Amino acid sequence: MSGGTTGGRRGRRPTVRDDLALMQGYHSPQLDVEVRLNTNEAPEGPPVEFSAALAREITGIDWNRYPERSALGLRSAIAALEGPAVPGGLTAEQVLVANGSNEVLQTVCLAYGGAGRTAVTFEPTYALHSHIAALTGTTVTSGARTDDFALDLAEVEAVVASSQPGIVFLCSPNNPTGGAESNQSVARVLEMVEAAGGLLVVDEAYGQFAPQSALALVHEDRPLVVTRTFSKTWSAAALRLGYLIGPSWVVDALGGVLLPYHLDAFKQVAGVLALGFRDEMDRRVARLVEERGRVAAALDTLAVHHWPSDANYILFRPERADGSEVWQRMVDAGVLVRDCSSWPGLHGCLRVTLGTPGENDRFLAALADARSPTRSDRRHPASPGSQYR
Ligand SMILES: *Cc1c(COP(=O)(O)O)cnc(C)c1O
Repeated sequence: MSGGTTGGRRGRRPTVRDDLALMQGYHSPQLDVEVRLNTNEAPEGPPVEFSAALAREITGIDWNRYPERSALGLRSAIAALEGPAVPGGLTAEQVLVANGSNEVLQTVCLAYGGAGRTAVTFEPTYALHSHIAALTGTTVTSGARTDDFALDLAEVEAVVASSQPGIVFLCSPNNPTGGAESNQSVARVLEMVEAAGGLLVVDEAYGQFAPQSALALVHEDRPLVVTRTFSKTWSAAALRLGYLIGPSWVVDALGGVLLPYHLDAFKQVAGVLALGFRDEMDRRVARLVEERGRVAAALDTLAVHHWPSDANYILFRPERADGSEVWQRMVDAGVLVRDCSSWPGLHGCLRVTLGTPGENDRFLAALADARSPTRSDRRHPASPGSQYR
């Protein structure tokens, strides 16, 4: 607005914090194309029985009342779900729930990061770890992964020893590169983080697609938390529900920075209901893992370098081609993948989310076509893609 014609004295507009003014927001661009394989969502919605049961359940919510503040029902259900993976099992006191695992991460940063403290990431990794940490005023220090995106334990040791961080983030499987950490290496990192007096956060947004989980290392006496989400495996990205598993004293401390009644009654009901469809979820994960093998094998035939994935996506680099040009040609063919080609450390790379078998076939056909030297140029002159990377 540039009003002010009434001539009154006008003050200056407030400005945001100096440290925020330098930051860019986080965007995951969407385009209206037929095949959307760019944000690692599940390809199908939740089972119809879930939606029907949810419609019935919400009529029982006391909408005029604040929700159950501690969300104990949902936390108990999650403890029952994940308990078998944790030696000694889990109680609701070891579970924190929030509005997406991004809010879980923000809560961790508010409590264990903040002004004067440092969070460490190992790049390339999930951009929101450093972004959310910075939003909370936490200093971010980044170490590098090896050339094939593995964690370099010597680098971890050096970075942790020199920065004495309040928080260290690992992402396993790592987004966007795909590999999961072994529990031996998570345990080594945990020793280093513990020696520095910090908290180790293992982001397992894709944990169900991987052969092992850091849940096996969770213990009341260890500064380790594991975060998971309903956004990927549970086909419920729209629900905005995520959680953390860790020592009860960490969960307690995190409760201290949550807003009162942060988790609404609808979400508490929906989360408990979703967990009742565990078998269906496991079948879907198994189907996507099968598709992952099939798509990876097909990529081998297309002059495309790709990295082994333990998740529901595959990072790949078209050889002898410009990554963002290939991306654009696929968009023109109605297939949207994530263009990581200009991200630090990911030169020329694209990331495809595994979809239904039909969607994956469309992806492979569009990629083959985009890679073909004889392909006719079908690029639309006014292609909308370029501003949406
Ligand atoms: C998708 C994703 C999340 C999910 O965040 P929500 O807020 O739960 O949707 C968290 N971490 C990583 C690494 C992800 O890729």
